[in-house]
Amino acid sequence: MEKEFTTSSPDETITRGKEFVATLDIGDIVCLQGDLGAGKTHFVKGMAEGLGIDSNDVSSPTFTLINEYHGDQLLYHFDCYRMESPREALEIGAEEYFFGDGITVIEWPERIESLLPPEAIWISIEAPDKNTRKFVIRKRES
Ligand code: ADP
Ligand code: MG
Repeated sequence: MEKEFTTSSPDETITRGKEFVATLDIGDIVCLQGDLGAGKTHFVKGMAEGLGIDSNDVSSPTFTLINEYHGDQLLYHFDCYRMESPREALEIGAEEYFFGDGITVIEWPERIESLLPPEAIWISIEAPDKNTRKFVIRKRES
């Protein structure tokens, strides 16, 4: 399945993230692919809001690698930007999160691609201009 949409402001991206999270189930893994400033973290803020989490608590976990937010459901937020190899993710127990009792969202998933299950949902974000962001969501047929 493939779905595309465009947003024209950070707030619209947050709204889309909020709508998107409502379509997920516990155990889903969402991979957000896009350059620095693409809007990955804004999309995660929306996902968090949709789960009743304060979006001010959401920031890129660049140094901690994983943030865990507690709302109506658990949200695990990974940022793999600084990971040199998938082994680092294994060492911090990534697989237990992936197959745990929450929703997982990952920035820079390509750094740990070999660890990701085939059923992960991939979202790519491109920035054709300053305020426009194009999203493509790819989900394997189940
Ligand atoms: P990333 O996590 O991909 O590095 P962030 O979400 O932290 O990106 O930052 C996105 C940046 O792009 C912010 O400075 C935001 O204000 C800006 N921006 C402009 N237009 C949009 C849009 N349509 N959606 C999301 N962010 C946007
Ligand atoms: Mg980010």
